[in-house]
Amino acid sequence: MENPWTRCNNCQRILYKQDILENKYVCPSCNFHFRLGARERLEILFDEGRYELLDEGIFPLDVLHFEDTRKYSVRLEESQKKTRMTEAVLNARGTIEGIETIVSAMDFSFMGGSMGSVVGEKITRAIERATKEKLPLIIISTSGGARMQEGALSLMQLMKTSAALARLGQARLPYISVLVDPTTGGTTASYAMLGDINIGEPNALIGFAGPRVIEQTIKEKLPKGFQRSEFLLRHGLLDDVVERKPLRSYIARALRLFLNRHP
Ligand SMILES: [Zn+2]
Repeated sequence: MENPWTRCNNCQRILYKQDILENKYVCPSCNFHFRLGARERLEILFDEGRYELLDEGIFPLDVLHFEDTRKYSVRLEESQKKTRMTEAVLNARGTIEGIETIVSAMDFSFMGGSMGSVVGEKITRAIERATKEKLPLIIISTSGGARMQEGALSLMQLMKTSAALARLGQARLPYISVLVDPTTGGTTASYAMLGDINIGEPNALIGFAGPRVIEQTIKEKLPKGFQRSEFLLRHGLLDDVVERKPLRSYIARALRLFLNRHP
């Protein structure tokens, strides 16, 4: 039988696993927000945890035959096996407190949530579907940035997703961006920061370049908590920091406001 106990890496307390699960993967003792996969994200967001997956038939390819310490094609296969996902994002449709919504949820355990051409394409399809079907959109971002193994093809996803979001905006449909730990690089530099509201989970690392690169560039020591949600909120880069437990009702309230719908 599986060990029912686990230790919180933040407060070091021994905890009953079931208590963490029932608490939406937040430590009941210190409120540490554990990282979640895309499936768990969709489950805790949609009504009764029910949703329909979309755009599942697109698969990444190693068009550049890229190889560093290992082949990109091998890394892809390993990630697919490990996560049982075809790529680092899932698109879904469901209801949030009765409001039909399109959600894209990224998964950091698939190649660090890196944005290759299929991730960009799936995000774009979610945006375009929301535009076409006149539905609100939520993207939950967690990503190390553009996927280097696809070179410039990854970088093109920044423009593609941003242009699609501009059209969603022109159609006057709401987009809520949820940034969770960690969200960096090209993902931060494109759709993750383009929400009508951008919200972070507590203590999430959010930035473009990492702190070491910035310190070396500006030759200054960075302040404590730099690039964490709370710091970014104080400095105007985020609109709010919302804990995972009230996130669903927060999003539903925001959508009702944007859509001018009354409960
Ligand atoms: Zn804890």
